[in-house]
Amino acid sequence: MKAYAEVAPVLPVQGTFTYRVPEALRGRIVVGASVRVPFGGRREQGFVVALRDECGLPPEKLRSLALPRAEIPPLPSTILEFTRRMAEEYACAWGLALAAALPSSLKRRGLRTIPGLALVRDEEETRALAMDLEDRAEKRARVLRHVLELGSPVPLRTLMRRSGVSRSPIETLVKHGFLRWTRIEQEDEFLVRSRMESAPRHELNPAQRRAVERIREAVRAGSHRSFLLYGVTGSGKTEVYLRVLEEVRRRNRGAIILVPEISLTPQTCGRFLSRFPDVAVLHSSLTDATRASEWLRLLRGEARIVVGARSALFAPVRDLGLIVVDEEHEGSFKQQQSPRYHARDMAVLRGSLEGAVVVLGSATPSLESWHRVKEGCYVELRLPERAGAGTRPKVLVVDMRQEKPERGGPPVLSRRLRILLQERLRAREQAILFLNRRGFAPALFCNTCGDAVRCPDCDVAMTWHVSKGRLLCHYCRFEMRHPELCPSCGVSRPGRVGAGTEQVEAEVRRFFPEIVVARMDSDTMVSRDSYENVLEAFRRGDIDVLVGTQMIAKGLDFPRVTLVGVVAAETGLFQPDFRAGERCFQLLSQVSGRAGRGDREGLVVVQTSSPEAEPIRRAVAHDLEGFVSGELEARKALGYPPFGRLVRIVAEGREARAVEARIGKVASELQRLGVEGVEICGPAPAPLARLRGKWRFHLFCKCSGDSALEALRPSLLPLESKRAGGVRLLLDLDPVSML
Ligand code: ADP
Ligand code: ZN
Repeated sequence: MKAYAEVAPVLPVQGTFTYRVPEALRGRIVVGASVRVPFGGRREQGFVVALRDECGLPPEKLRSLALPRAEIPPLPSTILEFTRRMAEEYACAWGLALAAALPSSLKRRGLRTIPGLALVRDEEETRALAMDLEDRAEKRARVLRHVLELGSPVPLRTLMRRSGVSRSPIETLVKHGFLRWTRIEQEDEFLVRSRMESAPRHELNPAQRRAVERIREAVRAGSHRSFLLYGVTGSGKTEVYLRVLEEVRRRNRGAIILVPEISLTPQTCGRFLSRFPDVAVLHSSLTDATRASEWLRLLRGEARIVVGARSALFAPVRDLGLIVVDEEHEGSFKQQQSPRYHARDMAVLRGSLEGAVVVLGSATPSLESWHRVKEGCYVELRLPERAGAGTRPKVLVVDMRQEKPERGGPPVLSRRLRILLQERLRAREQAILFLNRRGFAPALFCNTCGDAVRCPDCDVAMTWHVSKGRLLCHYCRFEMRHPELCPSCGVSRPGRVGAGTEQVEAEVRRFFPEIVVARMDSDTMVSRDSYENVLEAFRRGDIDVLVGTQMIAKGLDFPRVTLVGVVAAETGLFQPDFRAGERCFQLLSQVSGRAGRGDREGLVVVQTSSPEAEPIRRAVAHDLEGFVSGELEARKALGYPPFGRLVRIVAEGREARAVEARIGKVASELQRLGVEGVEICGPAPAPLARLRGKWRFHLFCKCSGDSALEALRPSLLPLESKRAGGVRLLLDLDPVSML
């Protein structure tokens, strides 16, 4: 029996550490087990990653491991290997990656139970009885039919709601010995609602059939392969996933379906749950207990498919055959804490380790994915047309520079939009006003050429600092005064931009005092509940106009919405982020692809002061290819991803001077290494220069490619573990957030 264990502690440290396995635990501790170990004077959580008979260290140097307080099942070997590779990839501690694979709630288990009802007789008899009761006691018959339909045992609450009866017919059935009381594990409200959804199995259209056929072939071959499924909004990508899943389950393999957190609604989950019996859901809005039990069902092989957000990528699915990443372009697939992994890239890694097929789906694929298609890493499949009802809406562009100024600036709502709003509201239709206000960084903007003042070296919009009265590039720290004339057109003096959602809401109220307006952004939506409640009220028609940020880009599937107004399409363009153009394009495409799902024609009004800007022009013209090729060229010229690899290092601490000194030291150390193909940009203050009382500075290592990054990696590894002078360093490979 093995007496020594290699342990990866859940701490930002490099490497693994050897511990003695106490006699009593030998044979009980397996690879993948959670343990507690003494580390630096404290007890820390860790994972056993290997067991050994011998150990080169002198026995007095070795300390013993212990079991954690709660019983935690060991992680399967596939997850061990996957997290090891992930940690390597992102230069983070293996233990941290392993910890991400375990639902934290497992440590605080205990399922709550609620009252429920079970059948006493078998189904045959019960069905006969229900028929018999149909004429005499219709309510009792209805209850029995619903128990049969929902499956025994069923929660009392669900049974009452679904059959629409009071307690009394149920109690009568219990008294007569046809039902009995029982207690069942509480099922999450979210799961209950998901189970009520259904998804018709559509006859595939030719494009869908071709896509399904290609992916099925790969599934049958049983080896790893990646596909990019580029399908316009509403083209029926989900139906493609469902059909491929059928093949995967026929071969008795498992699957992971990743969906962005915000789209993971009961409707989405329900489409999978209603078609397959063995689906587990992993989602942050589930209770801790449910998440733990769903995870255990996967581990035990009782569920073979998981539908979930980013972290479901670590789910212990048995014999994985398929990973789907829906809306693969979404930035939320990148985790913002260590391990800072990108679920899209890691899906491909896990797929290759376990011989699974990977399908990345989107209506506006990321430039990274297009690039991989061009390089031959992914196979492209297309769904060029809408599958279901609805037509593409008409898109109207309003040039805000032509509007009559109000209080010295362009108005928030154009005349055109106000008139259209009035028309639609009078017809009792609904409208959505959308403001692409990602981040907040104020920029200087030219009302003549429609561009922001940009850094001459980095080509990102510079940020206006009121306190200093200067413009600053947050990539390279280039500074300048407020220019008298716009550097790109030389005609007029640039000014500040930006109305917020609040202002939009106020304007709507001012013009239409009699209607109901709701606002939805991260300020008003503090919980998932408030988000769903507003959408629900909107769906019911209790709200006439919904104002919001990109949060509502997903909420556009409302049949009664016939008008979508994009208030200031260029806002996102002026963020200090090299992906600002890509995001602006994606958002506008999503918005203009979604309105008009019902039978009435949809109209999208795009208000902008920059109608000439590439992302806006191309999105309005539905010209994805034009946008992608132009943008890829620009990225190539500047060495931005997907052509180079970026590493972002953030320093944060309470003392501004200490933070600046520390990041300066890191920069000069990296500079001194002189790794070929690596350029150090900055350090500069982060656009979010103060966050939660801490000062933040950052720098970028621009690597010309994978090999340059490889050469740099050993120097990056120790950064996160060294904390000095109250300053913490955060390492982000392939960063998505630049703030
Ligand atoms: P996407 O995920 O590509 O935006 P969905 O999968 O949500 O699209 O499908 C959009 C709508 O079209 C859904 O209501 C779906 O039920 C319907 N649909 C999908 N495939 C077909 C088909 N082959 N025939 C008719 N309707 C379909
Ligand atoms: Zn710059």
